Amino acid sequence: MTDAPLFRRLALLGCGLIGSSIARAARARGGIAGEIVANARSARSLERIRELGIADRVEADPAEAVREADCVILCAPVGAYAALAAAIAPHLAPGAILSDVGSTKQSVIRDVGPLVPAGVHFVPAHPLAGTEHSGPDAGFATLFEGRWCLLTPPPGTQDESVARIEALWRRMGSMVSVMEPSHHDRVLAIVSHLPHLIAFTICGTADDLADETRQQVLQFAASGFRDFTRIAASDPEMWRDVFLNNREALLEMLARFTEDAQAMARAVRWGDTAYIEDKIGRGRKIRRSLIEINQA
Ligand code: NAP
Repeated sequence: MTDAPLFRRLALLGCGLIGSSIARAARARGGIAGEIVANARSARSLERIRELGIADRVEADPAEAVREADCVILCAPVGAYAALAAAIAPHLAPGAILSDVGSTKQSVIRDVGPLVPAGVHFVPAHPLAGTEHSGPDAGFATLFEGRWCLLTPPPGTQDESVARIEALWRRMGSMVSVMEPSHHDRVLAIVSHLPHLIAFTICGTADDLADETRQQVLQFAASGFRDFTRIAASDPEMWRDVFLNNREALLEMLARFTEDAQAMARAVRWGDTAYIEDKIGRGRKIRRSLIEINQA
């Protein structure tokens, strides 16, 4: 006799890069969900999810998608969570676990927490895995392997529900850590949100320069710039929502970065070679240490 899966019915609200990767990983690894129900916003994505055959059922109505699901995961951009949560709240099964994958955590707890009905367990989560691609075709079953997933349960969350969401991510190949939501948002502001802000900005600056000088700046993009364009290819809606929903931490990190960039500018102006070498050396060290812990 085979063991029962972790969840009888898993509902994914949003089935783009992250949602479709969860569906694929759950299928590929087994023991996770007896049935997978997927929901997306547009008719085009719903049709594509059907064609790809990555879910057992595709539902256009979020309320219908969560019916009798014992685990529901919000996988849409974080700005859509409040409306989605309001739409599904009356239809969540008693005892169900409601989780998410959003890149910001305080805003998710603020927007979704008050709408969670009594008897439903809310366990916010954030997989630190992704690519610059989006939509149901972008997902793949191994996306979460060897990557961290951070859980930020609000005080009073039932331990058993946290343990089941932890088991879900471990079964998909992730390492799991529990973190305080405000700490999560500050850490992610520096390691993810600020780098994206810089990438979007530098691409805009180069494009403006090309317009101004009427010269082919972008045609000669060298490796440094090319790496930024990969990050800058990310989904605009998703990133707009991340910036607006982690505003304070992002602005704090941007201010710190701006100060440090000014210090570097001063070192360049005055030919302070020791300062410049030190900063470049630190960058190299950080890259090496990421490679050592398999997170590069
Ligand atoms: P994505 O590929 O663009 O997919 C988003 C999904 O949400 C699509 O199915 C989309 O449906 C649906 N959706 C969009 N707006 C919606 C709305 N207003 N109401 C209901 N559904 C809506 O995005 P993703 O990269 O998977 O990101 C999903 C979540 O994961 C976000 O909260 C993001 O912060 C988080 N996350 C992303 C990454 C990353 O690297 N991309 C990493 C970790 C966590 P349509 O296709 O029909 O528009």
